[in-house]
Amino acid sequence: MLICGAVSAEQIKPAVKGATKPAATPSDAAKKAAQKPAPKRPPAKMLFGAVTAPAPLEARAIGSYARGCLAGGISLPINGPDWQVMRLSRNRNWGHPRLLDYLERLASDARALDGWPGLLIGDMAQPRGGPMITGHSSHQIGLDADVWLTPMPDRILTPQEREDISATSMLKDPFTVDPAIWTPLHTKLIKRAASYPQVARIFVHPAIKKVLCEQAGKDRAWLSKVRPWWGHYYHFHIRLTCPPGAEGCGNQKPASADDGCGAELQTWFKMLRKAEIDAARPVQPGAKPPPRKPPLSLGDLPRECMTVLNSGGGGPVIAPDGTVPAALKAAAGKDAGPPEPHLDPAALAALKAQMSKSKPGSKPAPAAASASAADPAPASVPAPAPAAAQAANPASLSPSGSASADPSVPLPVRKPR
Ligand SMILES: [Zn+2]
Repeated sequence: MLICGAVSAEQIKPAVKGATKPAATPSDAAKKAAQKPAPKRPPAKMLFGAVTAPAPLEARAIGSYARGCLAGGISLPINGPDWQVMRLSRNRNWGHPRLLDYLERLASDARALDGWPGLLIGDMAQPRGGPMITGHSSHQIGLDADVWLTPMPDRILTPQEREDISATSMLKDPFTVDPAIWTPLHTKLIKRAASYPQVARIFVHPAIKKVLCEQAGKDRAWLSKVRPWWGHYYHFHIRLTCPPGAEGCGNQKPASADDGCGAELQTWFKMLRKAEIDAARPVQPGAKPPPRKPPLSLGDLPRECMTVLNSGGGGPVIAPDGTVPAALKAAAGKDAGPPEPHLDPAALAALKAQMSKSKPGSKPAPAAASASAADPAPASVPAPAPAAAQAANPASLSPSGSASADPSVPLPVRKPR
């Protein structure tokens, strides 16, 4: 900061009229100081992650799902007639009014029309949206929400229970939904969630998508909005379209008319099998970890996000060196669900044998449109998970990793969120 101050003071020094003397050369000390690298700016996730209150502005979703922020966010009440918010310590029950209206409507309709007992709400957005310290690449503009696949209990949970209770995994193994846990009510809930026109996408684990395809019956139009994505085996992710006419809010491509139950699902299962084998592969000693994209900086976000960050009170509580309070980081890092299941050694060996028998020259699916980070579900072929990233055992990945099982990155590292 001091360096910048000194440099800019020198630059704005008014020139003396008629002066012949050349401008004073900076002293050796000043030269030395100028060569020092500028102090590192904290990544945007640190700034937005440390904000505790919304920006007192008109409600606006600014930017795109994985690169933006939220003005005028409002918080979903932690108890509604048909919902309860989980993991209160994360302070991520914020959203655009469009998202709150939707969730309240869904909770009410699912209960009244389908008999779903009520929604347990996971992460929505931070008070001012933006990137998060842990868990997601999207959820940045107040139009994404995670809903647990665990039905709401018939009582008000205590704040401690909301921290401690784990969501229920729907999986029996990495490729199969457990029929003892999945019920027709789950199918009805996802169908209901997808049925509203303001929904752009619903993301679920490929095994869940498979069950939905099998149970959909003749009415299949809603399936096209429900797309597979890594990690969504104990919750599903709802993404709404931008409010109509909203300036500076970037929709993703509308879902294709394909119900996704054919070639796309098959490709996902191929990727799941490959990921399972890669996950079991021991990490070579001395092997370099896969390169990670640098985190977004404030400059990577729309310019208005600076205003969002700085307006009113409740700005970032952050040390000058960019560190956030440990308690905040710890709360943000808490996982909501159990780890993903893996095959036992015998089943893994059988899978390997089966894979090595299958056509050797088959090409992997082409990479997703990497230019469109917020469009994780290309019309026909989903992105393969990167082999290098998959080589790491997902269980060993830190919850504070930047890439995640999040539907906004085209090539995600598999993680349980
Ligand atoms: Zn999500």
